[in-house]
Amino acid sequence: MAENTVPQPLYKKYLEGGGEMGELIRTFDWSATVLGTPDTWPQSLLLTLSTMLKSRFPMFLFWGKEYIQFYNDAYRPSLGATGKHPTALGGRGEDSWQEIWPIMTPQLERAMRGESTYSENELVPMFRDGKIDDVYWTYSYCPVITEDGTSGGALVICHETTSSVKALKTVDDTITKLQFAIEAAELGTWDLDPATNKFVGNKRTAEWFGLPHTPDIPLNNAIEAIAPEDRERVGNSIMDAMKPGADGNYDISYTIVSQQTGQRRIVRAKGKVIFDAEGTATRFSGTLQDVTDDVEMEKRKDEFISVASHELKTPITSLNASLQILQKLVKDEPVSDKFKMFTAKAGNNLNKLVHLLDDLLNVTKIQQGQLALSKNRFNLTELVKDSCDHISQGNDHEITVTGEDELFVYADYRRIDQVLVNFIGNAIKYSPQSRKIDVVLERSGDDAKVIVKDYGIGINPEKLPHLFDRYYRVDALGHQFSGLGLGLYISSDIIKRHDGNIGVDSQWGEGSQFWFTLPID
Ligand code: ADP
Repeated sequence: MAENTVPQPLYKKYLEGGGEMGELIRTFDWSATVLGTPDTWPQSLLLTLSTMLKSRFPMFLFWGKEYIQFYNDAYRPSLGATGKHPTALGGRGEDSWQEIWPIMTPQLERAMRGESTYSENELVPMFRDGKIDDVYWTYSYCPVITEDGTSGGALVICHETTSSVKALKTVDDTITKLQFAIEAAELGTWDLDPATNKFVGNKRTAEWFGLPHTPDIPLNNAIEAIAPEDRERVGNSIMDAMKPGADGNYDISYTIVSQQTGQRRIVRAKGKVIFDAEGTATRFSGTLQDVTDDVEMEKRKDEFISVASHELKTPITSLNASLQILQKLVKDEPVSDKFKMFTAKAGNNLNKLVHLLDDLLNVTKIQQGQLALSKNRFNLTELVKDSCDHISQGNDHEITVTGEDELFVYADYRRIDQVLVNFIGNAIKYSPQSRKIDVVLERSGDDAKVIVKDYGIGINPEKLPHLFDRYYRVDALGHQFSGLGLGLYISSDIIKRHDGNIGVDSQWGEGSQFWFTLPID
């Protein structure tokens, strides 16, 4: 080796730079090792070391039969804060890597035979920071050919990939968990590319639509599998969700008819659009849930309510008639006070029952499209005043009406009165601590607006979107306030069928403002 050594002080040139490891290599007492002092080292070793010290890529060099070790600053962090550094420098491979020497030896031996190896994201456990760590590497062992043409050492060019392997594993685990949840919930999934109008779905989605389970299914093929009566509605809903400036939410129920088997299935599709900075939809994905049984159940519930309320109507009507006769008798004939009191109580409770039954019958009519409207032109302000006067009489709430004196509308007097009675009835019911109710009449553009303000319990803002749904009650399980959750649903249907709007503003604990508008006539 000595005749191939580099003259002084040129060898020093090769060992320049290299940060901490360069410094350590220069100051190390090499005379105590089999390599001897650097001025005796062959050019191949010096050249390799020079490359290593100047490289920012992690490298480790095993030199000679004893595999004497060198590494650079880029490799240094992989040895941990405590452990093999700095003792590995100048040490023998076998001494430094006892825990994985059997894994390393074959690769080193191949490099010494002049062969290279390559391993990707390979687990190579190593001792660092006081423990055996699971460390992943992508690395290559390559021979360093010396002046006599043989391999003098093995240069390991490597990259620790522990964090990316772990991140990938986390992603894999998350996907597995997600798929498990999707399976458990029996959901179909879909992911539409708005640029191509093609989508991928899971097996279940493909099966429900009766389409092949392949990537890139044209959206039109799926639309064709939607029942004809729902097609346009679904198409519009998809376009609305993807419109620039839309909130990107998609929630719709429709019927699928399998293209293969003809099986009909009612699904609820929920999804979300992702937009880019320019507001263009870039991704639209979501889930499908089979709600056929729920819808059937709902139908049966509606049928039951319809039959039950119709069956109850006859006996309650005749009970009401009998009670009215009884009340008249109580008034006209001399009877005991107890008799009067119980007759009055029975009357009150029967009234409540009649109202509940009316709500149920109204809902049935709405469902069957039979809630008829009988429209006339009248002054809404008068209706509001009469109605409030009437309610005030049997009540200790103070109802104040302010605003426009004349607001003529063309509407069903009885039905609009029903809406108002429902608003005020709720304002009273949900304000146990306050006695004040304000009713305001306004002109709002071409509309007449009626606002009913109370100062009661108020409503949590996140519940507001559901308030006009059928059977919806904010405190569904609490029995503090009686009710069926139908009044606002009926009111909303009545107002919408008058081409008006209905809404609410409220804060929890700060009262509510329910309002509706009707076109001025
Ligand atoms: P019901 O009063 O019979 O439950 P509604 O359809 O009239 O049914 O009202 C639906 C729900 O809206 C009620 O259960 C209640 O939780 C809430 N709500 C309605 N009006 C008010 C109000 N003025 N203040 C607070 N909550 C209200």
